[in-house]
Amino acid sequence: MASARVERSMNDTTFQTDLAAWPRARVESLIEQATPADVDRALAREDRSLEDLAALLSPHAQPRLEALAQEAHRLTRWHFGRTIGLYTPIYLSNVCGADCVYCGYAVRSGNREKRVTLNESQIRSECETLARRGFQNILLLTGEAPRVVPVQYIADAVAIAREYFASVSVEVYSMQREEYARLVERGLEGVTIYMETYDPETYARMHLIGAKKNYDFRLDAVERAGLAGARKLGIGVLLGLFRWRVDAFWLAMHARRLQKTCWQSALSISFPRLRHTPRRFTAPAMASDRELVQLMLALRLFLPEVGFNLSTRETPEFRDRLIPLGVTMMSAGSSTRPGGYSTYGEETLEQFEIEDSRTPEEVLEVIRRAGYDPVWKDFDRAFHATAGV
Ligand code: SF4
Repeated sequence: MASARVERSMNDTTFQTDLAAWPRARVESLIEQATPADVDRALAREDRSLEDLAALLSPHAQPRLEALAQEAHRLTRWHFGRTIGLYTPIYLSNVCGADCVYCGYAVRSGNREKRVTLNESQIRSECETLARRGFQNILLLTGEAPRVVPVQYIADAVAIAREYFASVSVEVYSMQREEYARLVERGLEGVTIYMETYDPETYARMHLIGAKKNYDFRLDAVERAGLAGARKLGIGVLLGLFRWRVDAFWLAMHARRLQKTCWQSALSISFPRLRHTPRRFTAPAMASDRELVQLMLALRLFLPEVGFNLSTRETPEFRDRLIPLGVTMMSAGSSTRPGGYSTYGEETLEQFEIEDSRTPEEVLEVIRRAGYDPVWKDFDRAFHATAGV
């Protein structure tokens, strides 16, 4: 009852309202004013406040990374045990009418390679290939082309994928709540939507054409998906677009809100870094390896029960080093081209270059060697979702 009351009262507001209380200048000054003593205090606490988060994200936490790592490791073991789940993406289409300046699929990216949308038999072929490799957890992706890839097409693709996999999620354009509900009816479990950056001015400069230009509609999309019944929700920022410390602060606020408004859904965060971009664009605010580590540790300490996903955007060596720092899901054997597993090989346009091209078996071996149990199916997360914890 208490949770339902919280959900109702928070649903009377939007995340825009929460963000309005924490404009960029306020967040920056909180982070800048944090002292080494604030970092130590934040480390010692069990329940951490936004002030603690700011201290953990501040430059003064850099010399304390080892202590942060130990606490992150302890919390992850406590909440997730020794398991790391495996997933992989299936790109359904690389047709896109939007112009996000950092993306290889953007309509004005200058890329001339083949653009395709998979038909039913091609989707089945991709699913069969990945099911044979052992995957049970799949993320379906498209660009933003609702005429070529309408909601009905995505709903049908979800239903097809559910014939092969225990868990199907989507990372597609933002939808209305009723549209998410249609996907859930066809077997959808999860929705991932990266805000890319929560800074409205940077957002406007990065998204030039298409529905994705609408910051407000995207900001609340993942909450609409949760309220429509999606039981796994994924969020993230694209590291490289804006000051990572400030974006991470807003991302953590978003996560805390979703834990209350969508308490029946299991939440996860991804940490995509803009490592490869189209020739016309250079990332203005890249995070270094050490900064990415700090970000993950700070968020683990602030959000101990949230899953952390690590994609093949990062190099094998770096991914291996990140495993004990709070990672709970890893992608493996990924292709970012539609039809990349069985239909078109390398003929079609890819969204971005992957750095870790090891086979799933090789990634499994690395996870085992690090002392974890790789799992194809994330029963734990399903349990958490059902129990609403
Ligand atoms: S990020 Fe998504 S919407 Fe934007 S150009 Fe790439 S595929 Fe299209």
